[in-house]
Amino acid sequence: MRLSQAFQPTLKEVPAEAQIMSHRLMLRAGLIRQTASGIYTWLPAGLRVLRNIAQIVREEQDGVGAQEVLMPTLQSAELWKRSGRYDAYGPEMLRIQDRQKRELLYGPTNEEVVTDLFGSTVKSYRELPKTLYHIQWKFRDEIRPRFGVMRGREFYMKDAYSFDASYEGAVSSYYRMMLSYLRIFRRLGIKAVPTAADTGPIGGDLSHEFQVLAPTGESEVFYDSRWDEIDWDKEDLDGNRPEDLKKLQDLVSTTYSATDEKHDTAAWEQVPQERQASGRGIEVGHIFYFGTKYTEAMGVEVSGADGAAFHPHMGSYGVGVSRLVGAIIEASHDDNGIIWPESIAPYRAAILNLRSGDDTCDALCERFYQCAPDDILYDDRSERAGVKFNDADLLGHPWQIIIGPRGAKNGMVELKERATGERFELSVDEALKKLG
Ligand code: ATP
Ligand code: MG
Ligand code: MG
Ligand code: MG
Repeated sequence: MRLSQAFQPTLKEVPAEAQIMSHRLMLRAGLIRQTASGIYTWLPAGLRVLRNIAQIVREEQDGVGAQEVLMPTLQSAELWKRSGRYDAYGPEMLRIQDRQKRELLYGPTNEEVVTDLFGSTVKSYRELPKTLYHIQWKFRDEIRPRFGVMRGREFYMKDAYSFDASYEGAVSSYYRMMLSYLRIFRRLGIKAVPTAADTGPIGGDLSHEFQVLAPTGESEVFYDSRWDEIDWDKEDLDGNRPEDLKKLQDLVSTTYSATDEKHDTAAWEQVPQERQASGRGIEVGHIFYFGTKYTEAMGVEVSGADGAAFHPHMGSYGVGVSRLVGAIIEASHDDNGIIWPESIAPYRAAILNLRSGDDTCDALCERFYQCAPDDILYDDRSERAGVKFNDADLLGHPWQIIIGPRGAKNGMVELKERATGERFELSVDEALKKLG
């Protein structure tokens, strides 16, 4: 993409209501624009990030055997009346009436739709277990939308739902999903600590939130610093091996972590002092076992091996895909702008032509651009070098390919790594090789 032709509107002044860095940077860098309170348009660079995150989530969900579907955003109120949640959900639900005066709602979550789908298709225990997921827009009429996409009203979520024949099966599905989440967050280049969360009337210990540590997080997180040290690549856990899931379960139950709501000071004191870590956390994911709550309420049964019908056990598993964009920026930026992890950057690199209009510079930049992979942005604008440096830092490309008249004469470019500021002088071929 040539920046001179791109729809990439950067902002010099940010609106005063943008209080936190990620919100300010997303507006300034031209990733999003607000259209109504808590509702945003995603501009091309922002959309590329959102899609990159969704794709990693998709691959890691597929990787543990979850199957993708796409359920609608609009749901019938009937389904929610069957589960008993239509009234219980309260004012966060956006309720709509169609021209026939039928009640609809914009889905804040999908337990009802998926349970109904499952009930109308799966009849026998032999078809279990099953995990379905989708990546779809949700609407919650948050009382205080804030921090940009971090607490929007319309937001993009991956939600998965598991169905199992027994409690034991559901526990396996739960830890398989946890494994998938740990892999997702690792690939996104962030640290997300799983913290024990409230299970409400269901009881037990099968609910965890995933917290990205950043000073602007909404809850306080207390955790054993072993969470920072576990190398999930080395652990080499396989979601299809029961012994590996057991290993993960043991690791979770013996490595302390909790948010302020669930903090247990007695257990905390058992963590050696040098490993007691704490900080603010942003909830980017939440996994939950809720047993037969919905299958019972909605009358969904399948037949068992003995011919008797039973209610399958369910879990639900959410990842805040659009919130992650903000959370990752919160965790990865400096005074000059965003520092994207390579796995999700809108563009892996930007070519900075320091003297557009100079024949040698233009020729080398063109040559580089023609040979480069397609996720590279070419800043071909006739702007001053300083403007280009500032914009590249703001947009946070992992690499900058700096081409000035002096180097260009000798066919040399400078490669700058955004995260470290390190610079390398390379030939065009070497630089292209480095970018793969
Ligand atoms: P929160 O405590 O922040 O209100 P939640 O517990 O209500 O979130 P869940 O129902 O657990 O949210 O939904 C799963 C995930 O969806 C959350 O972990 C979060 O990452 C994301 N999410 C929830 N609400 C919003 C929102 N208003 N804007 C953006 N993402 C959200
Ligand atoms: Mg909420
Ligand atoms: Mg929450
Ligand atoms: Mg939650």
